[in-house]
Amino acid sequence: MLVHICCSVDSHFFLEKLQHDFPEEKLTGFFYDPNIHPYSEYQLRYLDVQRSCKKLGIDLLEGEYDFENWIDAVRGLEKEPEKGARCEVCFDKRFITSAKKALELGEKKITTTLLVSPLKSQEQLKRVGDDFHEKHGVEFIAVDYRSGGGTQDQSRVTKEEQLYRQDYCGCLFGLTMQREQQDKLMDEMFSPISGQTLPASIEERLEMYSYRNELEDKSIEYKIIKQKFLNYRQFNFKLISGKKDVLDAYALSYSTLPRKKAQGRIEFAAHNIHYFNREEIKLITLEFFNKQNSTNYKSVKELIYNPLSYEQELTFRKEINNTDYDLSPIIVVENIPDTKLTIQLDATTYEDTKEKIIIL
Ligand code: SF4
Repeated sequence: MLVHICCSVDSHFFLEKLQHDFPEEKLTGFFYDPNIHPYSEYQLRYLDVQRSCKKLGIDLLEGEYDFENWIDAVRGLEKEPEKGARCEVCFDKRFITSAKKALELGEKKITTTLLVSPLKSQEQLKRVGDDFHEKHGVEFIAVDYRSGGGTQDQSRVTKEEQLYRQDYCGCLFGLTMQREQQDKLMDEMFSPISGQTLPASIEERLEMYSYRNELEDKSIEYKIIKQKFLNYRQFNFKLISGKKDVLDAYALSYSTLPRKKAQGRIEFAAHNIHYFNREEIKLITLEFFNKQNSTNYKSVKELIYNPLSYEQELTFRKEINNTDYDLSPIIVVENIPDTKLTIQLDATTYEDTKEKIIIL
């Protein structure tokens, strides 16, 4: 039986039940989910499905991440709510491709882990499955592992197995609607030009779950815990000298400007820190930055495209301000300008939660 898999939270419990209910069947997993956006989230879900299938001794195949085809298929349905017309097209696409894969592999039965998701309509899935059966002869196994306490059992398994628990269905459109309803920043869509791994980003989770797999390979015991913290994202930043001369400049993480703009000039300097006469802004030279961080950046541009890690930046910020809670702008420039300056900085801090591994 070919089992289309959408994520480990749905698949681990589902595959365990299938193994129990169909002991004669050789199960093969098929991860085909081009709906998942961004690609890093796709990689993260696939990583966790790989771990889950390995634990259960189930072979796993990966489908093509044909995101453009998926976008074409749902065009015009972007504003549909979950369980609406877009989801129907999304299921059809994933199911039909999986069913074709089953045909190609000579499998006679197919099912999908989407059947256990509370966000999916089982009737909708069954309709598509039965239709394919009629046309191609691959039987759709529409098991119901949700009722009779199934959903509670699934939650228990998710917790016990420490599976990666995503908090949105998968696509860009569903995520946009969800974040709008929650009035929450859609920080999943940030992709800094620097490639820096941002706190509580998908990239950070991907690193953490890869590390978790390494720990398991070495039989090191661990726990994944959650932490509340103040997160930060920078939307844009510009330092202008005089009327329109844009200078190369880098604003350290956790630099914020409540009114997004400040105008003034450097008032004085002490211990290599140059104090602006507005909004507690500080400027430092790249030379000083290099000295303090034992780095060798040749230009601020180089720093912009290849910054320190977030943690290193925070440590440096703390050194300059002598506190963990400073949110004033710290700007790195090649030379301290003696002209009138305009600082445009759009950045936000917000309460957030992130996962962390602790070794037992
Ligand atoms: S909300 Fe989920 S099921 Fe619906 S279209 Fe997006 S990814 Fe597919």
